[in-house]
Order: sequence, then structure tokens, then C-alpha cells
Amino acid sequence: MSSNNPTPRSNPKGGDKRGPLPFGGRPGLSLWYGLALLLVLGLAQMYWFVPAGKTLPYSEFKELVKSGGVTEVFVGDTAIRGTLKTPVQSGNRQTSDFTTTRVDDPKLTEELEARGVKYSGETNNRWLPELLGWLLPLLFFVGIWGFFFRRMSGAEGGVMSFARSKAKVFADDEVKVRFDDVAGVDEAREELREVVEFLKTPKKYTNLGGRIPKGVLLVGPPGTGKTLLARAVAGEAHVPFFSLSGSEFVEMFVGVGAARIRDLFQQAEAKAPCIVFIDELDALGKARVQSPVGSHEEREQTLNQLLAEMDGFDSRKGVIIMGATNRPEVLDPALLRPGRFDRQVLVDKPDVKGREDILKIHVKGVKTSAGVDLKLIAARTAGFAGADLANLVNEAALLAARADKTEVGPMEFENAIERLVAGLERKRVMSEKDRETIAYHETGHAVVASVVEGTYPVHKISIVGRGFGVLGYTLHLPTEERYLSTRRQLQGELAVLLGGRTAEEIAFGEITTGAQNDLLRATDIARAMVCEFGMSDELGLINYDGNKRPKFLDIAMPQERGLYSEQTALKIDAEINRIITEAHATATRILTERREQVDTIAKRLLDVEVMEGDELRTILGLPKAEPVLAEGTVEVRQ
Ligand code: ADP
Ligand code: MG
Ligand code: ZN
Repeated sequence: MSSNNPTPRSNPKGGDKRGPLPFGGRPGLSLWYGLALLLVLGLAQMYWFVPAGKTLPYSEFKELVKSGGVTEVFVGDTAIRGTLKTPVQSGNRQTSDFTTTRVDDPKLTEELEARGVKYSGETNNRWLPELLGWLLPLLFFVGIWGFFFRRMSGAEGGVMSFARSKAKVFADDEVKVRFDDVAGVDEAREELREVVEFLKTPKKYTNLGGRIPKGVLLVGPPGTGKTLLARAVAGEAHVPFFSLSGSEFVEMFVGVGAARIRDLFQQAEAKAPCIVFIDELDALGKARVQSPVGSHEEREQTLNQLLAEMDGFDSRKGVIIMGATNRPEVLDPALLRPGRFDRQVLVDKPDVKGREDILKIHVKGVKTSAGVDLKLIAARTAGFAGADLANLVNEAALLAARADKTEVGPMEFENAIERLVAGLERKRVMSEKDRETIAYHETGHAVVASVVEGTYPVHKISIVGRGFGVLGYTLHLPTEERYLSTRRQLQGELAVLLGGRTAEEIAFGEITTGAQNDLLRATDIARAMVCEFGMSDELGLINYDGNKRPKFLDIAMPQERGLYSEQTALKIDAEINRIITEAHATATRILTERREQVDTIAKRLLDVEVMEGDELRTILGLPKAEPVLAEGTVEVRQ
């Protein structure tokens, strides 16, 4: 009986800025200074130590030697320099220095000796250009390496900074969220007010010797405002807010997470009073298990470190640790012991009044027309969480913008609700045969739902495909809020789920793949009836499931098989089979009895594509359904 509500998430308020990077800013400024210095030295040496004398052709040099115009000569590896007797004009100055490129001339020394010229050999001792010759390429590669290294360790504080916490630090005035920004979770808000009081005036509490809660765990379905509430606590108390997400701890190196935790708590202690908020605590706080394959070593080390830090922490210093999770059942029990997350605050999906309040908050930034009735929208959005409602307002605004309207009207909200409930309307050409099959399939669901006992009245049938893989749907609106389901209701539910496939069988004598989702859900319900609810006489009042179901998530988690014998497994399978077969028989009976009406409805549906529940009931000769304004989950059948 799960609804098909998509649970869109929008970003929590506030930026995603991270603290300053510990490493990886500039890789050693001094390195660059050193490099520049070398370069300057090299240039200087080239300028000053290279004699800026007159450059002579070798032949002229030879002539000068012969004519006795040269007094001294230094013979180098590649060049010869020396001094002349009489200065010559070089550029715009007089110089007696000269250089010439050395030519292989074995007779040169003889001639120099003959003329009595002082000569000496010279090795190239200008080391700097040589040094630079190999240093520069080296530096170049170091530079490139440094660049990539920084990229790797850069923005996210990666490789080199793994030991530092990625906690985002919000300074006092940075948290702008207040309790007024959170609606529909009044009880949670009241409980958290106490935490705010404590953070504001810790003395008042500690003087009386009271023990302050160390850890507050916010539990509830996704999108109900847990993260928002935690930020609001920091905002109201005007204290720094250290927040990080449990999933950030899932690192590849063992020990990194633990180091982070240590670091985080150190930072927090320095800034007390403050709040440390660990979002998605389940990612890190999953129960420690003995696993035959692989190890969860990293996560366990991190968790152990967290437990140790929480124990070693003195809450009188004014650091409150908050956590949030939508899967409290998987948390390690050690986390929930006194002195740790000993206080749990339920942040549940809002009721109709709460939804109205949340809508009020979110329509503030949107221009709505006078006809928009938030009360009505709240009534139509049973099962929506705060994030869904925020998304709904946004979606409505987008629809209005697309239609070039200046205000968001009731129609946009209506369409946005349908869109969110059943996915996006799909415009695609479909074969006539497929349309017919879908029409019969949906009619099957709708007719069984209207006739069988204990299901919510059909609100709308549609064969306009929506979203990915959804070809048609039947919308049910609840008339009352149900917390318990009777066995008969579940059996009815199963018959309705199988109604689609059954109608195909009866109308075409052929079946299609369109019932996959129905069968999945039917099997789920039947299995739960046998294994969890003790509704099978054959197997009795035993819970065979062993596992805890996710409390706040609609989706089924991959489950390990419960502890039962092979024989029991066979019996369970047989019972599930029996329950489903019975439901199929019920659907077949209803649809065969009403074959003509089924045809009428399917034909009509092919014409109009969308049929209201009342028209359906008129064709079936049933009374109109009572007006729908109640709580509960909007159900969609595909
Ligand atoms: P959770 O942490 O429970 O999954 P978030 O706090 O991240 O949910 O909620 C996401 C967004 O949805 C919020 O930023 C806010 O815009 C909106 N929202 C959720 N719950 C509420 C609420 N109770 N009141 C107002 N806005 C809400
Ligand atoms: Mg959250
Ligand atoms: Zn179906």
C-alpha cells in the first residue's frame, strides 16, 4: 500500500562553502622565490661576466695577432677572448676587449708565442647557465606535478588533507534559519527549544546540577526538515554550527574517518558553545556486523571514534551533538545508549494543518493569484513531506512561467500535484492496440477497486502516460486515515492490484508485461501477510522476517532471509501463492460478472483518456463517494 510519491529533494538553505583549505593552497611560495632568484643571478652573470667586448671575425683576430695588436688572450672551449693594444669602437663605446669564436687552428699557439702574446687556457666556469639548463626542465616537471597534485587534493580537501575534517563551519551569524522557517513539526520544535535555551544560557542549567542531553537524534522520513531544524537550532541560539554528513566519512583509507572525527571534535571544543551536526548518521553509524566478505573496518573505526569522542565529551562545556537519520533501525545500538544520542526527536510527515503552514512559508517568494486556496492544496497533498511541498510550489511556479502567466493560479498547483504524484505527463504516440490494452488494464484496477470491500474510492483513471514507464494510472483518494489494515482490506488491495492483469486476460485472452509493478507490490503485500503480520493460518503467528523494515522509507530495503528452515520456506512460498491465487480469483469473478460494464468503461476511457471517479461509479451503478478531504496517502496504481 505504498504510495508512488516521488520524494524530490531540494537543497537546504545556506551555502555549501567549506572552510579554508589546510594544504594545497600554494605549494611553497618560497619555491617560486628561489626560482626567480636563480633566474636573475643567471642573467646577471651572463650580462656582467660575459665580456661585452668587440666581436671579431677569426680572420681579423689572426691579422691582429700577426700585426702585434693583441696583448693578452684567453682560449676557451668555444671562444677566445682577450685584450687589444689599442681600444676600438664597439657599438657606442670604446673597448679594448674582444671575443671571437674559436676555430680549430693548431698553429694558433705557435703564432701567439712568436708574437710574445700572453696566453692562457680557460674552462667555462659560468656554472649558472649550465645549471639552469637542467634545472629549468626539472622545475617545469615539478610544477606540472604540483598542479595535478593540487587538483587531486584541492577543492574537496582530498588526498593531502584527509586528516582534516570536512566539516563546514558556519560562524554565528551565518545560520539564518529560524524556527519560523520550519512548520508542521511543532512537537519536534518544542523539544528542540530546550536545546536552544541551554545553548543560550548553559549556566542556568548546570547550576542546578541538571544533566544536559549530549546528543539529540532527529529521526523521520526524508524531506521532513531534519536538516533544516538542526540549522534552525543553531540559528535561534546564535551559536556556530558544525555540520557534516555521515556519507562524507565513507573514505577509501582506513583511519581517515576516525581522524576526521577527532579533528571535528577538537574544532568544536574550541568554539563551544556550539552544535555539531552529523547528517545521515546511518551512513556511518550502521550496526557493526560480523561480515564474512570484505570488512567494514573503516566505518567501524570511524564509528568507534565517534563513540569514544561522545563519551569523552563534557556536555557542560556547551557542545551539543545533533544527528539526523531516516533509518534509525539500522543504527548501532551503542549510539543510542545514555550519554550518546540519548534523546530522539521524531520529525514526522506533516498533517493537513502542517502542510498548509509549510505551503505558506514556501509561497512567500511566489506570486500567487487570489484563487489559490492553500487549505485545499494541503488537503490534496496527503503524504507529502516538507521538501515535496517546497518542490510543489516551485513546480507550480515553473508551469505558470511556461504558460507566460504573471501569477501562479490554482490550475498550476493542481497540475503540479498530479505531476509530482504520477511523474511527468508524457506526450508520445502509442499504437492503438497498446492504448486499448492499457485502457482495459486500468479499468480492471478501477472496477475491482470500486466493488471490492475496504479500498479507498477511485478518484480518477487515466491512460495518459506519465513519467518513465508509467502508462496509465488509477488515483485513489483516502476517505479516512488508516493506521491499521485488516486482513480483508489487504485481500481487497491484492485483488485490486491484480485487477489490471485480470482485465487483460478476460478482454484479450492474452497478457502483457504491463503488470510488472502490480505483481511486485502484490507479492510484497502477500509476503508481509505471511511473514510479518501473522495472517496465514497455515504458518501461524510467527514473524519469519527477522529483519526490521525501514520505518520511514516507502521503498523496500534489500533484505536478508529470515531464519527458518527449508520446509518453512516451502510453506511460505505456498502460502504466498495461495493468497495471490485467491486474490486473482476474486478479481476474475468481479470482472467476469461485470464484463459489459468493463467494456463500456474501457471504450469511454479510450475516448476521454481521463475519467473521474463519479462517472465510473455511475456506469457501475454505485453510489457517489463521499467528498474527499481526509488525511492519508494518495495511492497510485499503474
Ligand atoms: P531532511 O533533512 O529531513 O531530509 P531537509 O531539511 O533537507 O529534509 O528539507 C529539505 C527542504 O525542504 C528544506 O530546505 C525546506 O525548504 C523544505 N522543508 C522540509 N521540511 C520543511 C518544513 N517542515 N517546513 C518548511 N520547509 C521544509
Ligand atoms: Mg537531510
Ligand atoms: Zn496495473
